[in-house]
Amino acid sequence: MDISRTGGLTMRTPKAWGQPCPHPDCAYAQMINRGNIRATSTYLTQSGKRRIFQCTKCGTPFSETRDTVFFDLKTPEEKVMMALKMLLVKVDLAGISFVLGVTEDTVLAWLQRAAHKAAEINAHLLRDLPVTQVQLDEMWNFIARKHACETDTAGESLPDSEDGRQGVWISFAPEFRLMIAAVVGPRTLDTAKEVVAATKARVAGIPAFFSDGFTCSLAALIAAFHVVTTVARTGKRGRPRKPLCEPHPDLVYGQLVKQKKQGKLLTLSTRVVLGAERLTQLGFTISTALVERVNLTLRQALAPLARKTSSFCKDRERLRQRVVFFQAFYNVARPHMSWRLSLPDQDQHILGLIQPKWLPRTPAMAAGLTDHVWTFRELLTAKFEPIHNQSSSG
Ligand SMILES: [Zn+2]
Repeated sequence: MDISRTGGLTMRTPKAWGQPCPHPDCAYAQMINRGNIRATSTYLTQSGKRRIFQCTKCGTPFSETRDTVFFDLKTPEEKVMMALKMLLVKVDLAGISFVLGVTEDTVLAWLQRAAHKAAEINAHLLRDLPVTQVQLDEMWNFIARKHACETDTAGESLPDSEDGRQGVWISFAPEFRLMIAAVVGPRTLDTAKEVVAATKARVAGIPAFFSDGFTCSLAALIAAFHVVTTVARTGKRGRPRKPLCEPHPDLVYGQLVKQKKQGKLLTLSTRVVLGAERLTQLGFTISTALVERVNLTLRQALAPLARKTSSFCKDRERLRQRVVFFQAFYNVARPHMSWRLSLPDQDQHILGLIQPKWLPRTPAMAAGLTDHVWTFRELLTAKFEPIHNQSSSG
């Protein structure tokens, strides 16, 4: 007799479904693999069979697509995934809309969901990273602004119009080829601070920082990594002097200074801005080569963004969504050539003609954050327990 079959669902031992109870008031809300979730039934959709789960603590039933990109969508999953993949290989919105027969707004709504999920993945995986070096870089001209100085109704300059160009700022861990943080913003100290703060929140300790000659970086680094020393009172009358904010003694910052004339690189020199002694001890070379390679990858991935009809702010938010989505894809789902492992020659008679030569690996695998190359579907459906001690929403 087939015991498992006759036993049916009631015989099933509590299984680790990897599904959290979605009810906000449940004692097991958002917790994963606590034995409170059972599969009760399946239903058929255009995308195949889907499971219905139920929380045994509060009784809430929910679909497996709850809190995923696919939740409540009528469109088949394959189509949604195709649109999102195309966004990562430089197909523009009009092109995706034409190929799949959906509106551009529909594609953008899917992108918004994917970016939300990607931000969750980034926040969950990118914590206490054992990173010793960080390369910082910015890339420009992603949103072409036709009107350099837009004004609001009162005629005041908008905060964003100071410099119409918005850049993508990236902090990158060269030892793992991992994108630590990505921020969209103008070339200002505030944006530099945002990138450094997001990086600081995700790494353990104080890594050495390298960037090009952008002067804002030093102030941004000191804002994140500093010690405050109070000045001893002189004994004289009057207000005590303000405490001094000094760079953290462990902070290392090196710049790669490029001199260009009419776009041509004239000279390339390095400059240790902070922590020369420690830099020598660590034996690192000042370089931004790898983060610049990532910038190129990003340029090859994302089509120009500006839509004729949309506002500047919307374009910037969409650029942010695409960059966050690309970041998660790049870290966990896109095998990196540098990390693939060579497989030993195997017996051709056993494996047949097609013989894998390489074991694909991702930056997240190299950094020990995950043990496999994520599928594209995983990128859109992964569920996590909330991080209670998360210091930054990044
Ligand atoms: Zn529950």
